[in-house]
Amino acid sequence: MNSSTTTSGLTFDVRLSPQRKTPQQRAALLDGPGFGNVFTDHMVTIRYTEDKGWYDARLEPYGPLSLDPATAALHYAQEIFEGLKAYRHPDGSVACFRPDANAARFNRSAHRMAMPALPEDLFLGAIATLLEQDADWVPTQENSSLYLRPFMFATDVGLGVNHPSRSYLFVLIASPSGPYFSGGVAPVTVWLGEDYTRAAPGGTGEAKFAGNYAASFLAQAQAVEKGCDQVVWLDAVEHRWVEEMGGMNLFFVFGSGDSARLLTPALTGTLLPGITRDSLLRLAPELGLPVEEGRISTGAWRDAAASGELTEVFACGTAAVITPVGRVKSADGEFTIGDGSPGPVTLRLREELVALQYGTRPDTHGWIHRIA
Ligand SMILES: *Cc1c(COP(=O)(O)O)cnc(C)c1O
Repeated sequence: MNSSTTTSGLTFDVRLSPQRKTPQQRAALLDGPGFGNVFTDHMVTIRYTEDKGWYDARLEPYGPLSLDPATAALHYAQEIFEGLKAYRHPDGSVACFRPDANAARFNRSAHRMAMPALPEDLFLGAIATLLEQDADWVPTQENSSLYLRPFMFATDVGLGVNHPSRSYLFVLIASPSGPYFSGGVAPVTVWLGEDYTRAAPGGTGEAKFAGNYAASFLAQAQAVEKGCDQVVWLDAVEHRWVEEMGGMNLFFVFGSGDSARLLTPALTGTLLPGITRDSLLRLAPELGLPVEEGRISTGAWRDAAASGELTEVFACGTAAVITPVGRVKSADGEFTIGDGSPGPVTLRLREELVALQYGTRPDTHGWIHRIA
């Protein structure tokens, strides 16, 4: 143990890696890292049992976890995660964007999956502890950041399926990342998939639950087969109300110039409540763009695009920030949004959000948490 920080009555034992990357090795890895392929020198783990609560918080060298083959998560998928980023600011400091919102959502996901809550100060303490050692891994290149991946899974050993696990492991890893989509802000083509659904009423769509993503890969593969980049999820009951795009929330822009207004699908319980979505709901009106939470059917989407009333569509999420949707395909045919290129509202909102996250615009919302 080299040093320690205390949070929520817990002390993070700091066990530094004897094999930290040299500055040269790190620089090579930070040159075009892609997304989610490269990891920093360390990780944080915290254990939980019903008897002890959270205990054994530590920073340790990044590396494999050793698991009994009967570990519950491997069989019954009791696993949740979060995704947020640490950004390099112009003064060289490192900051996260609304990490408290990720901590709160992590606990809502935990509740849905019958898992224990992790105190918010432990969630934030884990991030601070990791960045204290690995801040040099936060890239300085434009549109690059350190993607943080907190997750928690069931560690009971045994195949009993009648109750949730009584023990859990929380892990935080970090991955220096370039732009999420290699095409940058290039518009994507989406597939309106009717064969598979992501989330049903009463199901797990609201939780950042690992199984939701396992269930989505076949639909995403179908979208690619149809010549599209991403799948758009429709509601599970009528198959016509638009919910999300892949792992991102959607916004629709009607009109243009001074009369532009935004619509985003309301949180019905089957959508993932994105923090980017929530931030845009706050930012857009401040920029003179009225925004409404409502619903839009695939038919209304097509008709409004044809009449020209619908001028832009974009998707939003932490990983890719804001991505324009240029073209839509379905079993009934295909259509283009506007002229298919990124629209002015999409680009304006993207620029505003990115400027806040990278600290080149003053933070008037208290969203920026300086970490290192
Ligand atoms: C994570 C996620 C989002 C976006 O959430 P952010 O907090 O904005 O990153 C949207 N939809 C799904 C299905 C997600 O998993």
